[in-house]
Amino acid sequence: MLWLGGGLLPRLRWVSPSLLQALGHSLEECKARDFVQRLVHPEDLDRVLEAWRRVIRTGGSSSVEFRAEATQGRLVHLSVELSAVESAADGGGELIGTVRVLVPAARPVFQSPSTTCPLLGETPEEVAQELTRSEREHVELTDTVDGIVWSTDARFRFTFVSKQAERLLGYSTQKWMQEPDFWVKHLHPEDQDWAPAFCMKAAMECRAHEFEYRMIAADGRVVWLRDIVTVISEDGVPRELRGIMVDITEHRRAREYLEHMVSLLRATLESTADGVVVVDQRRRVTAYNRRFLELWRMSDEFRKDWDGEKMLRYALTQVQHPEQFRERVLALRTAPEQESHDTIEMRDGRILERYSRPQRLGDTIIGRVWSYRDVTTERRAQAERERLLHEAEEAIRVRDDFLSIASHELKTPLTPLKLHLQVLRQRAVSGQPFPLQHVEKALAQVARLSGLINDLLDTSRIQAGRLELRHEPVPLQQLTREVLADLRPVSPHHTLEYEEPDETLTIQGDRGRLAQVLVNLLENAIKYSPMGGTIRLTVERYGGQALVSVTDRGIGIPSDQKAHLFERFFRARNAPISGFGGLGLGLYICRDIVEHHGGRIWVESEVGSGSTFRFTLPALEGAADAHALPGP
Ligand code: ADP
Repeated sequence: MLWLGGGLLPRLRWVSPSLLQALGHSLEECKARDFVQRLVHPEDLDRVLEAWRRVIRTGGSSSVEFRAEATQGRLVHLSVELSAVESAADGGGELIGTVRVLVPAARPVFQSPSTTCPLLGETPEEVAQELTRSEREHVELTDTVDGIVWSTDARFRFTFVSKQAERLLGYSTQKWMQEPDFWVKHLHPEDQDWAPAFCMKAAMECRAHEFEYRMIAADGRVVWLRDIVTVISEDGVPRELRGIMVDITEHRRAREYLEHMVSLLRATLESTADGVVVVDQRRRVTAYNRRFLELWRMSDEFRKDWDGEKMLRYALTQVQHPEQFRERVLALRTAPEQESHDTIEMRDGRILERYSRPQRLGDTIIGRVWSYRDVTTERRAQAERERLLHEAEEAIRVRDDFLSIASHELKTPLTPLKLHLQVLRQRAVSGQPFPLQHVEKALAQVARLSGLINDLLDTSRIQAGRLELRHEPVPLQQLTREVLADLRPVSPHHTLEYEEPDETLTIQGDRGRLAQVLVNLLENAIKYSPMGGTIRLTVERYGGQALVSVTDRGIGIPSDQKAHLFERFFRARNAPISGFGGLGLGLYICRDIVEHHGGRIWVESEVGSGSTFRFTLPALEGAADAHALPGP
């Protein structure tokens, strides 16, 4: 006979029909809150309660005998073996009680002067009748239990097996009892060694025990059983084993499925490239993977006692924008149902993409899953692609600008050239003399055209790395004086000033190319000083370097444009083509020539105040002392 119950204040949840019959109570009565207290005789109640609570707390088993009040004031003497199904210190546990009505003749039931015990027959016939009835009932009741109720002798030979054995395993109860090693023989091969040894040891120690193992059913099925065993002993020697085997195959299958799912989830969690951490509603970390530790550069310290708060504090030290990070996390705490996706910049330059979504159990949100992905490489590649695209677009724009500027620049000298030639032809046809000024002007336009074409040719030579330079000693002052002499007649509105040191500075290089640099800088100074003014050319020595400077009082250069001035096709925004003309190639060529001579070129300028272009060249004599030079 069985009951199932639980709680620190004992309450029955289920009572087997046989026990109901023995007690004469209905199931509903038995389930009442104070039924156990009413059932047990007051003098035995403390012992029963103590055994009950011990089993619930410890998860073990315990047997206790007590007197119980059956219907019509009958007292019955019961022995119950309590075993925990589920223990819990807080009283939420469950237990199963295997109840036996003690044979009245073997042990006198509670005797009270005021109570007579109807179980005790007045006469031997009545006692015998009562015994037969009780035994029949006992067998009938055990057969209704949802488990195999059994008893064996001390050598594991079955002396009783309830009918459920046939239903569960398919062997007749006779077979169970007649085959001497029935139990051991029908155990699953993997349990055949340990299970009998375990049971035997517990029996020898007269210890109630409980274990799970497999038996092979008659049709070959594997049946998982949970066996709850009580050892009956005399003077410390085990005499009999009694127990109940409960079919837990479904339960085991569910457990195995669960274990399989957990292992699958763990493997998936570990194999993903994302770093994942799960935090519950009380900010406790409930799961994480190794990648998460790697991404956040967290040590194993994290495992010890880290919670959501500590993790947040740590994260704030790692990210570029801690305030923003904190606000996001706090905002999601107040909106647990929200999903989110954002990007985090780390202090060490990495970029992490963060996804976050609630963790649900059914409809209840029980936590939040955060997953992080390192997207640094993708983001950098994307930025690089955007930069290249921008550069390509810029190059196309520059090319288009250049084509329109170049066509304009090349066409400009052609119109006056054509006019002068037409005048000269007219004169020739009419036999008139040629005025020299037309010839000079025509030649000036031809010179302008050839200058433009030379710049274009030089640029493509530089691009191809084919700008060749001669290497000969060039007296610098001689060269600057010659260039100035050629330029003086060019602009009557400008005053050219010149200053040079007394000592002769000689450069090793290409005279023609160095002259080209000087002419370009001086022509620019004239061109970009449309109101006229003084242009000053100075030559100085700075240690082992010759320093040449060209200063004007012209339009100047916006400061953000200075860095690009020596690039190919670059024209500052304050020098519109309509007003100034030019292909934006002169300074590019100058820089290449100067650098090929081992020098440096730069500009100092302010918009509206004028510009000074300077370049250095290593002088042939004297020690190099570039540090003494002024610089940009
Ligand atoms: P460009 O043929 O257009 O003059 P350069 O390469 O010689 O080509 O000069 C590039 C740009 O630098 C010019 O378009 C102009 O904007 C600026 N620049 C050069 N020299 C001066 C200067 N002396 N004063 C102001 N701007 C200058």
